[in-house]
Amino acid sequence: MTDTILVLNAGSSSIKFSVHDGSRPTATILDGQIEGIGVAPRLVATSKALETSAEHRFASSEVPDHDAAIAKILVWLAEHSGGIRPVAAGHRVVHGGERFSGPVRIDATVLAEIERLVPLAPLHQPHHVAAIRALARIAPDLPQIACFDTSFHRTQDVLARSFALPRALTERGIRRYGFHGISYEYIASMLDGLAPTLARGRTVVAHLGNGASLCAMREGTSVATSMGMTALDGLVMGTRPGNLDPGVILHLMQREGMDAERIEQLLYHESGLLGVSGVSSDMRRLLASHEPTAREAIDLFVHRIVREVGSMAAALGGIDGLVFTAGIGENAPAIRAGVLGGCRWLGFEIDEAANLRGGPELTRPGSKALSFVVATDENSMIARHVRELLRIGSNSTPDE
Ligand code: ADP
Repeated sequence: MTDTILVLNAGSSSIKFSVHDGSRPTATILDGQIEGIGVAPRLVATSKALETSAEHRFASSEVPDHDAAIAKILVWLAEHSGGIRPVAAGHRVVHGGERFSGPVRIDATVLAEIERLVPLAPLHQPHHVAAIRALARIAPDLPQIACFDTSFHRTQDVLARSFALPRALTERGIRRYGFHGISYEYIASMLDGLAPTLARGRTVVAHLGNGASLCAMREGTSVATSMGMTALDGLVMGTRPGNLDPGVILHLMQREGMDAERIEQLLYHESGLLGVSGVSSDMRRLLASHEPTAREAIDLFVHRIVREVGSMAAALGGIDGLVFTAGIGENAPAIRAGVLGGCRWLGFEIDEAANLRGGPELTRPGSKALSFVVATDENSMIARHVRELLRIGSNSTPDE
């Protein structure tokens, strides 16, 4: 049996997981998730390599927490998937703060630092900590690696990372960090094969999923990004508003009687595409809807991307390429057409037929700036880091 790497992405009530071939991490052996932890737990997994798919439901008392969920995943892998026993695990961790500029092996000190960052990502970080602890208890000898969504942006200069707030607050860590870094790093690693001019030039990547952001890259490194200290800033998202005049928050507190908890709910769960449309946070449903408010939500989504692409181009001093990725970026030609249409002044000439086909190249021959669709794969990026850090399968052929 080949050495395998387990990748975990733990959320509040679900843990997504995948298993990768240790010598070729881009070869995903299996994808799955356990959802409804503590409520209606259900494990689903599919594997093209093993030609199998599975669904198991559990009583809520059987999987009350992350400990139990991780135990179920490990037992299920061992019993149902050709005896997969990972030799290492990689975790997606949303916030790496000032300290982590790349992946690290987790020990007690690293875990304490990840936990110290909980206030900067209260909706995500506690669940990563819970998953890391659970795995350490269940499989104490399994090496664990943390990969951070913020690390990729550590190359940004001080201006790109600062708010214009009193210095004492900046020194306490209140600054821009940026997110979706694992996805951006994966896309950056693909640029050479796609178009060397983009790998060496000025490229904006649009990660458009439920969460959405842009990253301006020069020679594949991050120069600016639309998300700030938290994942609320920047573009319109499924349920988050993106850029918001901070005076709105004061108004909500002082005139509408909302407290911090109510505002957190509003900003993370009730705004964005859902809030504007009143129909759904899901782009597929909005595109299929005849409600005028659904159209308005889509138009606002596109309008804000176009404005932010302009801002990213300014940070780069021009633009050579725009890459679309994630659920909406990879699958919604109408959104890509809207964005490229709005960015025509930057030199993009869309090839309508190629866009409808899903690319990969979306611009016409001769277009001054190029555009592509690239499917992101955060988990295989994490598996690549685990392999490199632990030198797994170092006797076999390198992955890339
Ligand atoms: P997450 O941020 O949760 O990982 P995804 O990257 O999976 O999100 O993106 C989810 C979004 O992608 C949803 O708004 C969904 O409607 C949208 N999406 C997925 N497939 C399509 C499609 N064929 N057309 C339009 N939107 C799509």
